[in-house]
Amino acid sequence: MISENPRVRFAPSPTGYLHVGGLRTALYNYLFAKKNNGAFILRIEDTDRTRLVEGAVENLITTLKWAGLDYDEGPGKDGGLGPYVQSERLTIYKKYTDELVQQKKAYYCFCTSDRLKQLREDQQKTGLQSKYDKHCLHLTENEISEKLKNNEPFVIRLNVQPDELIHIDDIIRGEVTFNSNVVDDQILLKSDGYPTYHLANVVDDHLMKITHVIRGEEWLSSTPKHILLYQYFGWEIPKFAHLPLLLNPDKSKLSKRQGDVAVEDYRAKGYLKEALVNFVALLGWSAGDDREFYYLDELCRSFALERVNKAGAVFNIEKLQSMNFAHLQKKSDEELLILLKEELASSDFKSHSLSDEKLLLVIQAMKERINFVKEIILNAGYFFTIPQSYDQDAVKKRWTLESPQLLQKFIEAIQKTDNPLKEDYENALHKVAEEVAVKNAAIIHPLRLAVSGVSGGPGLFDIFFILGKEETIKRINIALEKIKT
Ligand code: GLU
Repeated sequence: MISENPRVRFAPSPTGYLHVGGLRTALYNYLFAKKNNGAFILRIEDTDRTRLVEGAVENLITTLKWAGLDYDEGPGKDGGLGPYVQSERLTIYKKYTDELVQQKKAYYCFCTSDRLKQLREDQQKTGLQSKYDKHCLHLTENEISEKLKNNEPFVIRLNVQPDELIHIDDIIRGEVTFNSNVVDDQILLKSDGYPTYHLANVVDDHLMKITHVIRGEEWLSSTPKHILLYQYFGWEIPKFAHLPLLLNPDKSKLSKRQGDVAVEDYRAKGYLKEALVNFVALLGWSAGDDREFYYLDELCRSFALERVNKAGAVFNIEKLQSMNFAHLQKKSDEELLILLKEELASSDFKSHSLSDEKLLLVIQAMKERINFVKEIILNAGYFFTIPQSYDQDAVKKRWTLESPQLLQKFIEAIQKTDNPLKEDYENALHKVAEEVAVKNAAIIHPLRLAVSGVSGGPGLFDIFFILGKEETIKRINIALEKIKT
């Protein structure tokens, strides 16, 4: 049974970008919260000061917002249990470690890195698991005070009791059991005064009243430490759900080497947020039928943690591309207009002079030919500016000695029309072809080359209509001057 009003969190470390795996974790938490009338919390886990990246938190928040995953509580959205950034909670962690030390469930450790290195090497030589040997557990109160007085650097470690069985009842993976003998005396507080991930994560999940911890499988091996912490503090243990790994098609772990992993990269490439969210939702989950096309609100209604697979989920870029196409085709022309204008604003064509009405016609002409809105600009820049060059292969193939004369005749024919529509251009072309007794193609191909510079694209008469009579004639005249066979 899911508790009433569950509370879940996405707890990223701000490393500079949002990994697609992070987006999936955030999404599943979000969907679980929405489905069950719960709260979705964003907590920033920035206690590893060596990995801080300037602007990373802002970037994370912007990217989550772009994807439509608004949080109920988090930075800038106080739900009464903040602050939601761990570096602003240091006194809280200190208080709880002191408590554990007093109860002898944690202890001061003054071992130098040299000693720890030696210990590790000795253990490796004898084939033992690398583990701290509790050397400092036996220091007396006096010895500890003395060392503290002398400002000796120290850490605080968890005092793991041997021979305990630790059970995790994972919603996705079922029952997983660990023996406490394999759990190291984890550092809880580092020598720089910052907590480790393990301590801060457990303290915050408790204080923020998190009911379900939904996170990537790579954290499963940390969970025994977390459970011990809950037990040593005497706190209720949340439910756990460890999400399957994301894999490359060759079944290796999804890594930067094999392609983009940052959500920002997909965004920059022009993927629609609807497509990326839909695609990521299916990385490990399905409703149990063949359905693949979902909008976020539909996912909120259909999602169930129980239906998440244990097996790794393959990240298939072709599938993402086809999903982008599918979502793009479902968008209204007006929605695409907004996206096209955004793309235009950051392109070489930002000073184009097409009205919204004309841009809508461009969209209608191009929609079925593109996977990305920006392809309208990349593949059909001629809508926005006069061709700068002419495809030489097409010139060789399509521009004949009689082309200039045919195009001239076409100009004359359309000059006679007033505000020509698509059909008027078409009629003019047929008339010229008939008069000179050539096939339509003998005029169509050089005309297309003249107005667009390339040999393929949407309907030629659509292009003429969008460009308008003046511009069409102007372009043909320029081509007549410039194209030499
Ligand atoms: N800060 C961890 C991360 O970067 C959070 C893991 C967890 O959700 O407990 O993914």
